[in-house]
Order: sequence, then C-alpha cells, then structure tokens
Amino acid sequence: METIVTRFPPSPTGYLHVGGARTALFNWLYARKNNGKFVLRIEDTDTVRSTQASVDAIFDAMNWLELDWDEGPYFQSQRFDLYGEYLQKLLDSGDAYYCTCTQEEVEAMRQKATAEGGKPKYNGRCRERGLSRSDNAVIRFKSPLFGTTVVEDVIKGNIVFQNTEQDDFVICRSDGTPTYNFVVVVDDITMGINTVIRGDDHVMNTPKQILLYKALKSPLPVFGHVPMVLGKDKSRLSKRHGAMSVTAYRDMGYLPDAFINYLARLGWSHGDQEFFTRQELVEKFNLKNIGKSAGVFDLDKLTALNADHIRATSVRQLAPRVLPFFREKGYDAADDDYLAGVIGTLHTRSKTLVEMADGAHFYYRDDVRPYDEKAARKFLKPEMAWVLALLAVQLDALDDLAEKTQEGAFKKVMDEMGLGFGKIAQPVRVALTGTTVSPGIFEVIEVLGKARVLARLKAAVEFIESAGA
Ligand code: GLU
Repeated sequence: METIVTRFPPSPTGYLHVGGARTALFNWLYARKNNGKFVLRIEDTDTVRSTQASVDAIFDAMNWLELDWDEGPYFQSQRFDLYGEYLQKLLDSGDAYYCTCTQEEVEAMRQKATAEGGKPKYNGRCRERGLSRSDNAVIRFKSPLFGTTVVEDVIKGNIVFQNTEQDDFVICRSDGTPTYNFVVVVDDITMGINTVIRGDDHVMNTPKQILLYKALKSPLPVFGHVPMVLGKDKSRLSKRHGAMSVTAYRDMGYLPDAFINYLARLGWSHGDQEFFTRQELVEKFNLKNIGKSAGVFDLDKLTALNADHIRATSVRQLAPRVLPFFREKGYDAADDDYLAGVIGTLHTRSKTLVEMADGAHFYYRDDVRPYDEKAARKFLKPEMAWVLALLAVQLDALDDLAEKTQEGAFKKVMDEMGLGFGKIAQPVRVALTGTTVSPGIFEVIEVLGKARVLARLKAAVEFIESAGA
C-alpha cells in the first residue's frame, strides 16, 4: 500500500488558531494512524504579512501540542527556483501564457461578464496571442473552456464545478511571484503529498488546483475539506469566543492531550466516546467519521475534558507540566517528594493547572496567616485553642503522619473534648490552610508533614489567644 503523506501548511501571518490546530491535528493523526508521513510547510510567500514571530508562534504551538513532523519545515520563500521550473513547464506545454492586460482592462472584462449574467471573469484576450515575457506580464493558466471539474471530497462527497465559470487565473504575478494555488500544487506534488485535509474555506480553490495537477500530469491527492469551527453563537470563531491562539490555552492550564482530544471531537467522532488518550486517537482516527457540520467551540466542555485528563494523568507525569505554574506563583517546588504529595491531593479536584497552582498556595506558604477573615471568625473561636493544642500534642506523639495513623490522634481529641469530627475538622483546616476549602484534612496533614502541621497549629492557637486578649 502507498505510504500516506499528509501535510500542514500554515501561512505565518498570525498565531496558530483553533481551526488551524485542528487541521494540523487531523493530518497528523491520519499520518500516524497509517504509519505515514506528516510534512510541515510554512507558506510564507506573502512577504508583507508573513513574520518570523508568527513562524515561531506556530512552532511553539506545534511543540506544545506534540504534533511532530517527519519532514520540513519547508519554507515556500526558499523554493522560488522550483516554482520557476514548473511555470516554465506549463508555458512549454501550452497550458499557460503571458498576459499583458492592465488591471483596468481586466476589471472592465469582469464587470462586463457580470453585466451579462455570468461570473466575473477575465475574457482570455491574451490566450492565443503568443506573447513572450515582459515587465508587466503576468502568467495565466489556460483553463478548459468546457466540461466540469469534480472535487471528490472524502468528507463532503462529490462537488461539481462548471469549467465555464472558471477563468484563466493568474499563476504568476507581474513581479515574478507565483500565486497561492500554483505553489501549493507544486509543493504538494514535489513533496509527495497524497492526502490533503484542510478547512473548507479552501474548497473554491480546489478545482483550480485539480486543473493544475492535470496539466502537470500528476495524480490527484485525496481531498477532504473540514467544516469550520464556530463559536457557541454559531458565528465564525473569533476573539470574543475566547482565546484564538492555541498557546493561550497552554497558559490557561490546559493539558496538550486534553486539548487535542477536544479538537479531535470538534468535527470527528467515534460513537459517543468523548475521552480519548493520544494513543487512542491515533488508533481510532479515520476520515470517514469527520462530520459534515461545523464544530462548535465550547470552553466549558474543553474545561471538563481537561479535568478528566488531569485526573487520568499520573502524578509523575503531571509534575513537569505543573512546575511552570508553581514557579510563576513563586513557590519553591524544589522538593520532588513534597511536590508529588501536593499534586496527589489536588489532581482529582483541579480543572486546570492554573487552578491546581492556586489550590497549592497554602502548601508553599511559610505562614498561612492572615487567615481568610470570615473563616477565622467562624472557626477559630476561643474554645478551639485547646482543641488545636491538644491535637498538636497527639500528632507530635506519632512516628509518622500517614492518614491511617492520624485517625487515632483525632479520635483521642474527640473523645477527650466530647466533640464530633465535624466540629474539629473546619478549625483544623483553617489553621492549616488559611481557608475553609482544601483537599481532605488527613491528606493535607500527611503531605504537609509534622513540622509544618505543628507550627501551623501553634500559630492558630496564638492567633486565637491574642484575639481573645
Ligand atoms: N496556507 C494555507 C492556509 O494557511 C493552507 C492552504 C492549504 O491547506 O492548501 O490557509
């Protein structure tokens, strides 16, 4: 069987956005699923709008999403000689010609065609003039005058275009720069691309490209045009629907595997399965199950899926992902065992890594004071000083603070003071974390360790005593 070769060819005129990332993902998945090749090509022929910053942003996003490529990155700006050769081929075979009509003349032709009830078209004036190269000449492709061009789309089915609606489009401008439809075809042919999956905003270009393939006597790739990604209000995804740049989601604390899981489901399905590991996506991905309707980007769904992925990721694997967020908050997370303990208590209760970093704050503070004011007022009451002091004594007497061992210490305090666990737990929580919301109190004590726990209980006792004084 022929090796599947797919490609992702972004134009570096901005960051990698959600729709672009999904196109990249589908091509990557299809190549990986079929043990094929995934090619990265930077389409930087628009020198005015292309920037190095955008190229860097695209690499950054691809790296974050772990979409690795087997070939490239190729840069179209470095391939002009090749495009020149292919232009010459078309000129030699009579499939292309020089045209010296001015812009005004072409505009007049287009208006006339429209006035006559047709599509705005160049009228083919220079088609048979046999002009040679000159300063103002563009090169046009000789489109067929009759018949149809059929895009056999694996997602949308056959789309039939009438050739009479197609004019002799420009493949090289008068300044010598080749146009998008032409360079894409030359690249896809010379890079051996046999599967083109892209956004359906390109579907109008495909008949032009098919005509070029035919003129160059090259086999057509498989085409699949993926419906757009829309915002929740069903309008085209834009900034007001949330961040556009893919890496913004990294900075908001989403895991790359959760993000690609979400992107994949935004236009592809496998029964009603929602959660996929990267490996499962690779195994199950196919073109057949790409949907015909637009995907709707829903941040809440992404967030819920992210929580599932965080939960399903081992503490060891989460640690390097969480660290940048901890560092940004100024936590000293040098102690790996402590870090593992901290993550262990938070990883079933954090929807994002940012939330996890927020939740870890109390673990990394030397002192949890000042306490949350309301919490202190409600739970650090005078009668609690003795309870907390007693608990400190009991915990101090233990060799280790494993959850099971602690139960005995709590039990002794409860018995001695005649209080239920419910009465003790919140004051202890406020003393240890500064707030009323935290992971389970036994887990927190185990992770904090004896020294921190005793110091915090002591501080709370002092706080209560000084408040009462
Ligand atoms: N460079 C084009 C874009 O960013 C991609 C063209 C294609 O996939 O053929 O939209």
